[in-house]
Amino acid sequence: MTIDRMDLTGKLYQPGLYSSVVHVASGNRSDNPLVVDLDPTTFCDLACPECISGKLLNQGRFTPERLSELAGELVEMGVRAVILIGGGEPLAHRGTRHVIETLGAAGVRIGVVTNGTMIDHNLDALAAYASWVRVSVDAATPETFRSVRPDRKGGSAFDRVIANMRGLARVKTGALGYSFLVVARRAADGTIEGNHREVFEAARLARDIGCDYFEVKALFDEGHHIVGLGDEVLGSVSEQIEKARAVIDVVNSSTMDSVRRHDGPVQPKSYHRCGITELRTLVTPSGVYVCPYHRGNPAARLGDAVTEPLPEIWRRSDRGIVDPSRDCAFHCARHGSNLELGEIAAGRGRAVLPEDHDLFL
Ligand code: SF4
Repeated sequence: MTIDRMDLTGKLYQPGLYSSVVHVASGNRSDNPLVVDLDPTTFCDLACPECISGKLLNQGRFTPERLSELAGELVEMGVRAVILIGGGEPLAHRGTRHVIETLGAAGVRIGVVTNGTMIDHNLDALAAYASWVRVSVDAATPETFRSVRPDRKGGSAFDRVIANMRGLARVKTGALGYSFLVVARRAADGTIEGNHREVFEAARLARDIGCDYFEVKALFDEGHHIVGLGDEVLGSVSEQIEKARAVIDVVNSSTMDSVRRHDGPVQPKSYHRCGITELRTLVTPSGVYVCPYHRGNPAARLGDAVTEPLPEIWRRSDRGIVDPSRDCAFHCARHGSNLELGEIAAGRGRAVLPEDHDLFL
């Protein structure tokens, strides 16, 4: 039996994680996070108009020395999986390759979310150690790529990204994903422009490249509220997703599911403690935050990993500074996991799985 990569609640029941999960579900603090999202830098070579981290970009990075120390601290703390991500392009930091090698050699699982422009500079490390690399492509043609993912001079790096993905597909030992964020903007003349007509074509390209999966996601606004799609665009995207299933493994994004259910931008929560913040955390050059939804939010900041060792920050910080009923009214991919922790605490959890499959909670 395997777990779907998007089955975040099912992942709680893996034997290698379950004792920590039960400890946290019972209301305790954790000794260490199991999963860390790490932004090595806030620099990015692209300038995507819809970037959720637009206001946080190009505001600093870890020095290569501190980044290297952080990798050692993650290993020392017993972190099981690290996702290299941004706010910023993680492969743009010249120290990232060393982080991948350090974590990989210590058996820490590694995931990478990248814009794909610098895969070639990190190819050997990614091929050897990344459990998965997910490239945000959002287009099937250079023209559309220029519109949704322009570089800082307005050019298109599409051909470079696709060539990099083909290069990685040839040597990878983990999975390669093609991510597609649906963009549908209303132009001044009232027409809808964006990438929404290219979903199926992108899925075919993903298969041709040698990708293992294709993920379609919905857009968030700056407050992390999901932006709905008009009926016509949603109908077309849904049709293309169904067609895409015949050519590649299409993973279910919780955001697309929400849009299809017309859930609306708000996801109310009745609980006051987020147990997931004990199991996962976000480390960035501007601070350590309870989770990626609160990246850059001073009220959700646990400490400063530029100046303080991560184990120290974890020992003294209060992850309860965020109250989901008050602070997380937007769609959170781990809302279901929090509800599942409640079930586990009430003795209504599921059976523990026979073995670990995917530690990226
Ligand atoms: S409930 Fe709030 S604090 Fe917890 S993971 Fe979701 S957004 Fe972050």
